[in-house]
Formats: sequence, structure tokens, C-alpha cells
Amino acid sequence: MTNHLFDLAHKSIRHIAPYQPGKPINELRRELGIQDIIKLASNENPLGPSPQAMAAAQQSLAEIALYPDANGFELKTALSTFLQVDTRQITLGNGSDSLFSLIAQAFVAPGQEMIVAQYAFVTYTIIAHSVQAKLVTVPARDWGHDLTAMAQAVTPNTRLIFIANPNNPTGTWVDTETLLQFLTQLPKDVLVVLDEAYYEYAANQPGYPNGVLLQQQFPNLIVTRTFSKVYGLAGLRVGYALAHSEVTDILNRVRLPFNVSTPALAAATAAIADQAFVQTTLAMNQQGREQLAHGFSQMGLDYLPSPGNFFTLHVGEHAATIFQSLLRLGVIVRPLANYAMPEHLRITIGLPHENARLLDSLQKVLYDNRITSVIEE
Ligand SMILES: *Cc1c(COP(=O)(O)O)cnc(C)c1O
Repeated sequence: MTNHLFDLAHKSIRHIAPYQPGKPINELRRELGIQDIIKLASNENPLGPSPQAMAAAQQSLAEIALYPDANGFELKTALSTFLQVDTRQITLGNGSDSLFSLIAQAFVAPGQEMIVAQYAFVTYTIIAHSVQAKLVTVPARDWGHDLTAMAQAVTPNTRLIFIANPNNPTGTWVDTETLLQFLTQLPKDVLVVLDEAYYEYAANQPGYPNGVLLQQQFPNLIVTRTFSKVYGLAGLRVGYALAHSEVTDILNRVRLPFNVSTPALAAATAAIADQAFVQTTLAMNQQGREQLAHGFSQMGLDYLPSPGNFFTLHVGEHAATIFQSLLRLGVIVRPLANYAMPEHLRITIGLPHENARLLDSLQKVLYDNRITSVIEE
């Protein structure tokens, strides 16, 4: 009776809703037998990684019989120069999501409170349950983090607060002034994770906070960034946390020694050195944002604006059907029912021809009767 084995897990763990990733291209290929598929579902960089990062990863394969550098010396040195921080403030992770997990493991005991916002990145919830924390979800304001309400939710039992800036999937963000006010009033023994996965995309917005600078002012602030988004290295899994050196010391005790692979370390180090590639990506993303915004408006569709590389599009009560219909046209986007946003789809900004195909497919699914009737069979 496998049920019994399942029941061996702690109740809070049995209640975790499994993460729903964007559908992999190969999976859709197997299911539908179609070849020409585009994925705009996981906010990856459609340009791929920097060619220099790719070359560095390839060269590093010659060394993969050896364990990686457990201390990530070269990547930390590159980051420390790039960000103007001490290497003793940097923790490397197997993706920034693994750092969220380390932080919770290290600082939150079972029964202690973690605060997140409604509609916040769902990984935080999984992690809260996995450490048996008491999860406090603060209602969103205009889809975004209500920092006033989140500050009011703090109790003597609160250990950790997650803020995604910008948030995925809603694209909402808090400005420097609001964040400063929040951090200033917070008890100094409550840790705050500022998840800046899309920082590079968003940084040019007026009033956009730079967590790295704020961290120097607030020792209880932990800033996380990733190589998965603008740097195009999602498949290699590498991200970093920037924190006070005492927090970093603790994180590195919990961290398993070889958590970032040799190719990931090599590629990330080379990626930091190629900021021209980042600029190319940002320019492409800006064009794509305008292309999609224009297309959505022409179709009369509302969306949540995002400073990142994605849109959250309101398509109404048939969102699940629309998602399925787009799949059949070879276009993978992300349904958001697991975020309790059943009328929205999240769409990553792609290359110009991918954006055009998404718009064209959406037009067909929503308005072309012939295709709609096929779908309704
Ligand atoms: C994509 C994403 C991450 C980054 O995940 P990695 O584990 O670094 O790949 C973190 N937070 C948010 C909000 C994201 O959307």
C-alpha cells in the first residue's frame, strides 16, 4: 500500500502542490507529433546565452571528471568586481530557487512564520511547506505586494519575508521609496529576501530599486539574482545571493559543497564579462514588448504591464481552452490557474517572429471561427 509510504512524509509536505513547469518543447512534440514549436512559457532568453558563455561551458567539459570548485572562486571574484561587493557576501546556488531553499532551511524552524504576497512566485510557498513553516499570505493590492500590509503581518514569530521584484507572474514591482520605508520599519531580526530574477530587465525604470545597494544599508536584506533569465543560462542552473557576511557564512554551512557544476561556473563567469550581450537582449526585449503590447491592444486584450520579459494577459474564463488551442498550434504559453489567476496566461517576450506567431495564433484561437469550431469538438 503505497499510501502508507506517502503518509510517512510530514503533513505540510504532503500538502505541497507539485510545481507546474512550462511545458517542454520535446514533450509537446511527443504528444502532438508536430515539429515546429515555440516556447514562450518560462521567461527564458530567446537569444540563448552569450556565445562567450557557451564557449566557456564547452571548454569546461574537458574538466568534468573532477569535482567543481566548491567555493566558486572565479565566479565569485567576477561578481564581486561587477557588483562592487565583498566575495564574503556572495553565496552561489544551483539556480536562485535553491538559495531560497537554503535560506529557509537555515533560518526558519518548523512553526515559525514566513510571509509572502498573494500571487507571489509559487516556489516560496513550496519552500515554506518543505521547512514546515507557518505560511502567511498577505492579500495583494492591484496584483502586487502590499508592503504596508506585509509589515503589519509581522509578529515576534516571523523569520522570513519574500519579495519578488518584479513579481512573477504579475509583473508588479515596488519602488525604492516604498521598499526603503518597509525595510526601515521592519524589526532587524526579520530577514527579507528580495528576489531580483528580472533585475537587469527592469533596472532602467525610473525609481526602480537596486537591491545590491540597499543590502549595504540593511544587514537583514538578502538579494538574489540569477543567470537563468537575461543571461540565458536557465538549463545550467546558477544564481547567487548577496547578503551580510554572517548570513553568507550560515548559508555556506547549509549549502552542499558541490552545488554548482563546472560548466555552470564557467559559463556564468564568462556571461558576466559579456555585458554587450545583455544590452543586445534588453534592446530585443524592449522591441518585443512594444510588438506584443501593440498586438494585444489591437485584439482588445488587457494585460498586466511588466518591466520584465513577460506579459500577463487577460483572456477571460476560457483561458484553459485557449492555452490548449495554442498548444495545438505549436505555441507554448503558461496557464496561471495554479496562481488562482484562471483567466490569465503568462507569455514570455520572444524573438520578433515568435511574437508574430503568438499574436497570429491567438488571433486564430480567439476570433477565427473555423479554428474555434475545431477546438470545441
Ligand atoms: C525565474 C525566476 C527565478 C529564478 O529561478 P532560477 O532558480 O534562478 O532559475 C526566481 N524568481 C522568480 C520570480 C523567477 O521568475
